[in-house]
Amino acid sequence: MNDPLTGQLLKIRDWTYENYHWAYLAGTAVLCQSLFFPDPARTIYAWLGCALVGALLEPCVNPYRQVYGAALSRLPAGVALTFDDGPSEDTPALLDLLQEEGVKATFFVIGRQVEKYPEVVRRIVADGHQLGNHTYSHPNLMICTPGRTRRELERVQQQIQELTGQKPTFWRPPFGFRSPWTQSAADQLGLRAALWTVNPRDFQDPGVEVIVSRTLEAMDKGVIILLHDGLASRSQTIEATRQLIRRLKEKNYLFVRLDESNG
Ligand SMILES: [Zn+2]
Repeated sequence: MNDPLTGQLLKIRDWTYENYHWAYLAGTAVLCQSLFFPDPARTIYAWLGCALVGALLEPCVNPYRQVYGAALSRLPAGVALTFDDGPSEDTPALLDLLQEEGVKATFFVIGRQVEKYPEVVRRIVADGHQLGNHTYSHPNLMICTPGRTRRELERVQQQIQELTGQKPTFWRPPFGFRSPWTQSAADQLGLRAALWTVNPRDFQDPGVEVIVSRTLEAMDKGVIILLHDGLASRSQTIEATRQLIRRLKEKNYLFVRLDESNG
């Protein structure tokens, strides 16, 4: 961390995360140029054409854009804790914590993980939390066909119904990436897309304090917080969740599940 080059690289990485739609737009334009236009043909029109491709793709990766279908990225009131990529061996400790604190949350589960931890899925529902669909195998849906997109979602709907007798009403695209046809696949299954307001990037394991401060800096009413309870050890997330719940309770925030809001 003391090495200036590493410091600079970390700053660039953080900037890319904060502004990833712009980084994505520029990256697409440059990539397009190098793929389709040999050097002498790189005119201003070629650049504009490539930037247009980037502009059409940008709403696929920007969680706040509604170009390719409506997506919930903020609630009218309260604060929603959401956990993606589980269930995992860390989920029970998180459920214990939520139970102690009397807080309800929303879990966007991956089908492959549901197969490994069916009892945890049942407990999520028994504890009064909401289950959401996070696809069967967590693919990048921007490069999935409409048929594969639908199968990814449908399989998890069936798994959850068999395990709990309920079907999710919300889904969250892996990485937040959508395509122009994800909305129609989700509509056919009665699923509404939910993204997030605040992404403290707990998956980077930046330290408990960093996860807490990134979240608190962005707090406001109606915020949907994106956290993770799977795909890697989530001890930092659990401790950060403990501290966040205490801090937000002190500020009189009311914790809600996504389906409890009228947003
Ligand atoms: Zn995910």
